[in-house]
Amino acid sequence: MSRLDVFIARMVSQRACLNFAAEATASIAGPVFELGLGNGRTYHHLREIIARRDIYVFERAVASHPDSTPPDDRLILGDVHETLPAALARFGPAASLIHADLGGHNLDKNDAFARAISPLVEPLLASGGMMVASDRMYFEGLKEVSLPADAVSGRCFIYQAG
Ligand code: SAM
Repeated sequence: MSRLDVFIARMVSQRACLNFAAEATASIAGPVFELGLGNGRTYHHLREIIARRDIYVFERAVASHPDSTPPDDRLILGDVHETLPAALARFGPAASLIHADLGGHNLDKNDAFARAISPLVEPLLASGGMMVASDRMYFEGLKEVSLPADAVSGRCFIYQAG
């Protein structure tokens, strides 16, 4: 697979998994958490497909497209190692959907990062809530969900709280 193929597979998979998880969790009222704003493409997509839930964005340094920048009261600024535990104290186990796209090009670093934040993410989900991640996560109590038809195996992962 060329790097272009890998990139396209990741984008197609992100969109397919976000569409699937947004619909599957539509009946849960709790907030949506976007971990890693970057350019803001996936945040912009979430805004398009999610109508009645608040979307909070976790980011350490905002550098997004102006059209894809959250309002100040929906931005949780800082390192997720600190902001995720703070979010648990603030929201409790209430998130209907969490999307994480925090990694870079170093796969070993991404894996270590996913291991470190998995226990911080897991308690944030409401019952039935879903997590969509670009990297494999390491949860104790969440079950892995089969990917929707358009997603490419290994490019995206979906987990659900019981
Ligand atoms: N999904 C985004 C999009 O569609 O444009 C791209 C996200 S980009 C790959 C990853 C983002 O995660 C970067 O903006 C980076 O600053 C952020 N990030 C990485 N590690 C972080 C951390 N420990 N705490 C908070 N944000 C972090």
